[in-house]
Amino acid sequence: MIVAGIDIGSRSAKAAIMKDGEIVGSVIRDTGAESIKTAYQAIETALHNANLELDDLNYTIATGYGRVLVPFANDNVSEISCHARGVNWYFPSVRTILDMGGQDCKAINCDDKGAVTNFIMNDKCAGGTGRFLEMIADVLNTPLTEIGDLALASKSARPFNIVCAVFAKSDALHYLRQGVQKSDIMAGLNEAIGTRCLSLLKRVTIEKDFAITGGIAKNKGMVAKLTEKVGMTPMLSPDPQLIGAIGAALFAMDRCQGNKVISSPKVNYGYSDGTGVYYITMDSAKCNGCNACVETCPNGLFSLSYEDGKKSAVIKKEMLKKISQVCPGISVCRNQRENTCESVCKSNAISHSW
Ligand code: SF4
Ligand code: SF4
Repeated sequence: MIVAGIDIGSRSAKAAIMKDGEIVGSVIRDTGAESIKTAYQAIETALHNANLELDDLNYTIATGYGRVLVPFANDNVSEISCHARGVNWYFPSVRTILDMGGQDCKAINCDDKGAVTNFIMNDKCAGGTGRFLEMIADVLNTPLTEIGDLALASKSARPFNIVCAVFAKSDALHYLRQGVQKSDIMAGLNEAIGTRCLSLLKRVTIEKDFAITGGIAKNKGMVAKLTEKVGMTPMLSPDPQLIGAIGAALFAMDRCQGNKVISSPKVNYGYSDGTGVYYITMDSAKCNGCNACVETCPNGLFSLSYEDGKKSAVIKKEMLKKISQVCPGISVCRNQRENTCESVCKSNAISHSW
């Protein structure tokens, strides 16, 4: 069985090929301006590394910001689920994950099967993201790959109030003009980012074990700072930037039995508007008909259907055409309510993407 996971992030595209449960090829490249072209280039390179071709794939799952734009994918799964699944494959004991991506940071809790039990994301502020560190590397005129080691050489970290990337940049420039060492500037920034990440993690539950995923997990200075802040040494996979793609490949593996592809029990209910493309995904194979989502949704999106003697949740027909008006999206719904359809579903049958 040969499957692929492809993770189209805001800054980088990653692909992982698995054959009989082993990773046989992978690639990381810049996303660039054309997501579809990038998706093809990424998968072709990863397949080439494994001496395989696109036709050899039994099933492909796409994830990440651009997952709905991957034409050859059989299905898509949210990056939050994929990161948890990928981490669980390496480290089943992990319950807390900090994903530091190109454009956002996410704190995730998962169970011993790698199913997401809670998450929170910070996409409003660039602090602690790849984009932010690229900007700082530019200001310090230091290659991005070297800023991690730079911070470790610091003797006297300078304070930063990293409320926003613009202020952090102007504070960094101010310190540079005063002749402050670059290492002390970088260490101060890591301190501020670490504090911000810790407060994000505190909004879920910080429990053992702890893992960091995403490109920033390759930054030694940041990892050292997070180890100190969280009070746990993070588990780091061989390439933390590939975790989302590996998780997607593992979901793809679930859809195959031997060389036979199981027809997808998942349905995506999607819509797009001026701010992006949004989906609610219902996986009837996982749904046990517990009714929790029906009772929780303040806008009455769900009902239970009975087919072949099995109860499962569906989105009401009359709601399908107006999901964008009735569902504010899980991030907004979350702020207004303690529980959302996704958080009350213990079977991981519902996921939102936006
Ligand atoms: S996010 Fe909130 S409004 Fe949207 S379907 Fe879920 S519970 Fe309902
Ligand atoms: S909460 Fe989950 S398991 Fe329960 S009915 Fe809804 S989708 Fe199904």
